[in-house]
Amino acid sequence: MAENVNILIIGSGPAGYTAAIYAARAGLKPVLYQGMQPGGQLTTTNDVENYPGYPKGITGPEMMEEFKEQAQRFGSDIRYGMATSVQFSENGFHKVTIDDTHQIETEAVVICTGASAKWLGLEAETRLNGSGVSACAVCDGFFYRGLDVAVVGAGDTAAEEATYLAKLCKKVHLIVRRDEMRASLIMQNRVKNTPNIEIHWNSITEDILGKTEVEGVRIKNILTNQLSDIEVKGFFVAIGHKPNTDIFKGQLTLDSAGYIITEKGSTKTNIAGVFAAGDAQDNIYRQAVTSAGTGCMAALDAERYLAAKESHHNTLK
Ligand code: NDP
Repeated sequence: MAENVNILIIGSGPAGYTAAIYAARAGLKPVLYQGMQPGGQLTTTNDVENYPGYPKGITGPEMMEEFKEQAQRFGSDIRYGMATSVQFSENGFHKVTIDDTHQIETEAVVICTGASAKWLGLEAETRLNGSGVSACAVCDGFFYRGLDVAVVGAGDTAAEEATYLAKLCKKVHLIVRRDEMRASLIMQNRVKNTPNIEIHWNSITEDILGKTEVEGVRIKNILTNQLSDIEVKGFFVAIGHKPNTDIFKGQLTLDSAGYIITEKGSTKTNIAGVFAAGDAQDNIYRQAVTSAGTGCMAALDAERYLAAKESHHNTLK
């Protein structure tokens, strides 16, 4: 038999936990499923130093634990489990299946399933993740100030990360697999006009060097097959993100990259009672603080939606 809940939150990064804090404090009884990676992308970073309120910094996993505790303090029901399918309905009653077995019925769903960075697929990338390998310059760039780093990718993200890092680091090696960049012209020009960025064209990453921390990168020029080792302390992968929205395809309006489209200035999706927050609907800012902000918005939108429904229901009685 299906379980009825008044608000269901899917996902447990800053957006999900913040939505739970606000929903619980509004007197709703939020049930939150943590998904595949409890705590979300922040659990794969080390120190978070740009989240306001932590003047001495905090590790990503610790910060997410504190978010969770705060949500639980107000009565949120935080559970292990992953939404495996959804059936959203125009009539306002939604069904969500957890772990292929447990059915939930609810009038309000907040989607906070986040996004995942794409990786090259090298063994060293996983082994040295958090020890020099990162997918977020804004999060981790500060640790490499005055040092040499490499960025792989050629889109707007790579261009942005490279120019951001160039302000902090001694030198940035940008590894581009073709003879041109996909990034917008203005971003490309910014990269090309930054003296401490060196672009390695037609180059692919063969390996990341170092046993316990990044010491360098081995690249191969695909035109000459020549291998070169570059000494770097940080290796930033910026080859795109993939929003975790596969289960919503065909149910919600997504953009061509799979991000959920929300109404401007709100977290409403195209289905009444379904709201989206965090990286699943944001391919621009992607910060913990902006995710938390939209998580708050989603809880407020959901609360108002449920209250309006309730009042409509009462006037019909
Ligand atoms: P993109 O998909 O635009 O670019 C990915 C880049 O990574 C491409 O240049 C691609 O190379 C390269 N790449 C992919 N796989 C590999 C691989 N295995 N090895 C080496 N290189 C690889 O992703 P972005 O994250 O850059 O951007 C996503 C969207 O967000 C875009 O629409 C972008 O415009 C937007 N954005 C906008 C910003 C802004 O306006 N300030 C900032 C950041 C992003 P190739 O070109 O050869 O395929």
